[in-house]
Amino acid sequence: MREGWGMSRVTKHRWGKKTVISLHKAERECQNGCGIIKVSRYEFEGGRDKFWTEYWRDLDRIECKGTPACEPVARTKLYEAREYPL
Ligand SMILES: [Zn+2]
Repeated sequence: MREGWGMSRVTKHRWGKKTVISLHKAERECQNGCGIIKVSRYEFEGGRDKFWTEYWRDLDRIECKGTPACEPVARTKLYEAREYPL
């Protein structure tokens, strides 16, 4: 365990201005320097509107339930390397 590792001390992301990429995609980058980008996705599928959110860092999608922790990049890489349980 490292200092600040616990879920109780997770910092909230501070999402920046929304960048609209296309009709189906908009991005917001965290202003805290954790390098995470929140991607809002939209698709019209089977006659219904479908919305969901993805989290990305560089070109890697972050696989996790809910919102990944907002931590400095070095620590977040460690978080990925450890395959933090979902
Ligand atoms: Zn963040």
